[in-house]
Amino acid sequence: MAARIIDGKAIAQSLRETLAAEVEALSGRGIVPGLAVVLVGEDAASQVYVRNKAAQTKAVGMRSIEHRLPADTSEADLLRLVATLNADDAVDGILVQLPLPAQIDAQRVIEAIDPEKDVDGFHPVNAGRLATGLPGLVPCTPQGSMRLVESVRTDLAGLEAVVVGRSNIVGKPMAQLLLQRSCTVTIAHSRTRDLAEVCRRADILVAAVGRPELVRGDWIREGAIVIDVGINRVPAPEAGEGKTRLVGDVAFEEARARAGAITPVPGGVGPMTIACLLANTLQAAKARRGN
Ligand code: NAD
Repeated sequence: MAARIIDGKAIAQSLRETLAAEVEALSGRGIVPGLAVVLVGEDAASQVYVRNKAAQTKAVGMRSIEHRLPADTSEADLLRLVATLNADDAVDGILVQLPLPAQIDAQRVIEAIDPEKDVDGFHPVNAGRLATGLPGLVPCTPQGSMRLVESVRTDLAGLEAVVVGRSNIVGKPMAQLLLQRSCTVTIAHSRTRDLAEVCRRADILVAAVGRPELVRGDWIREGAIVIDVGINRVPAPEAGEGKTRLVGDVAFEEARARAGAITPVPGGVGPMTIACLLANTLQAAKARRGN
């Protein structure tokens, strides 16, 4: 039987509706959560992300504060802006869009953000809180992926989970979240031996690699929950010369024949990321303002 398709668009929409209702209730008490997004340079993909983030922030009733800096901005100038935003009481969340130009050390910038306003959840304090099971701000993409898993099944205790990819942004925090839900977690990566066999163990398989359709159908355990985080642009000559399309890290048609539930690309994890950014901004606003 073909897998159930997990509709990330619809789940993100419903999360935004819940957030909008909470924001409205807070606004009635004079609190309007504010998200500051900083974009350095002209990277085309980053411009689109930042535009979408601002639009969705406003759509749920929060304040969007945008800072666009030229590509030749110095690290010192960016750190000064971060310090200003840290000190600004109207700002609950700070997001510095990555990647940053080569003259700026991204890690230094991440560590300069007040952990209470670190809505990306990349600060070592928040990574450490996640790893030790303390409340904190959880990175948006794995948080969204977890919400998608839980839309299929809530009791995950004892399940075998395999996360392919060990980045600080997706793979590692995803593994922590699955561990918190009492899964038996394996983290696979580029040096893993016999990746196919490792993946076949998974009741929950999360692919966060950045390699188009790396995970094949016969790597999927019958009935598994498959979360495809990858976003890869590949040529699509069938659609016309020079055309491209998006595919995930999982060979979707093959995998859906065996999986129990699977996220599509696009329309799976992607829409969840910004919705979780808004959830983090609301969480930060409530925590900072003593709610
Ligand atoms: P990354 O490049 O930082 O990490 C990739 C990981 O994959 C590494 O840990 C590496 O060890 C592993 N890897 C590489 N080649 C491998 C192979 N052949 N076999 C097994 N493991 C291998 O990437 P990232 O930032 O974690 O992103 C991963 C993917 O997720 C990318 O396609 C990215 O575009 C996508 N992404 C999507 C969202 C979203 O909102 N949906 C957010 C972030 C990232």
